[in-house]
Amino acid sequence: MSSALTLYRLQQIDNRLKQVTARINLIQAQLDTNVELQEATSRLNSAQVTSHTLEQELIEAEKKTNSFRVKLNIAESNLYAGRIQNPKELQDLQKDITSIKKNMADCEDKQLDIMIRLEASALELENAKKNMDVTKGKVIAENSTLMAELITLQKDSENLNVQRQAVIPTIDETTLGQYENLRIKRSGFAVSQVIENACDACGSALTPAYAQSVHTSSRLVLCPMCGRILYSN
Ligand SMILES: [Zn+2]
Repeated sequence: MSSALTLYRLQQIDNRLKQVTARINLIQAQLDTNVELQEATSRLNSAQVTSHTLEQELIEAEKKTNSFRVKLNIAESNLYAGRIQNPKELQDLQKDITSIKKNMADCEDKQLDIMIRLEASALELENAKKNMDVTKGKVIAENSTLMAELITLQKDSENLNVQRQAVIPTIDETTLGQYENLRIKRSGFAVSQVIENACDACGSALTPAYAQSVHTSSRLVLCPMCGRILYSN
């Protein structure tokens, strides 16, 4: 096999390896961060916090209402017991009762408001939980496809590396160095095929004699325009 053809084969292996590696990296990054799952988790956490906060608020409001109820019971029993005779004291007691009733009513209103919000929050919590289950299932399904692809790509990568290791020793060091340098300069394409007396990579025409030399020369022939290593079938 001519060294130009060997380099062309190596280039095919290297470019495929580059694609496979890029895809492996992309899949691994995707598996590491899943936006949908992060969003579902954040929604569920937020719903849990809201629910918990409202439950605490409701407990506090109930305590307050109860303490007003106790105060009211005491005040009313004092009033109806008939122990207080002093008109001023009676008036004050009645004022107290009115004030306690007003505070208690405010508290009950607040309690009702919390209960309404708690109901909405319970519904949101239920929906957030359902959404989390659906998202988890979806992510697992998606990831199983990705995982299968990843395994295939890793096998491909291993095979390509084995092929590469088999080709490398057949190329002399100087030629390999030349190939590696050209790959860097020419975006991975160091070797170009001659098709109809032209360099396939840059399109520049070659004289028939030059094109023929690619075929017959024992040394590497470069494209006079782009400097790539030429090979022909
Ligand atoms: Zn060229």
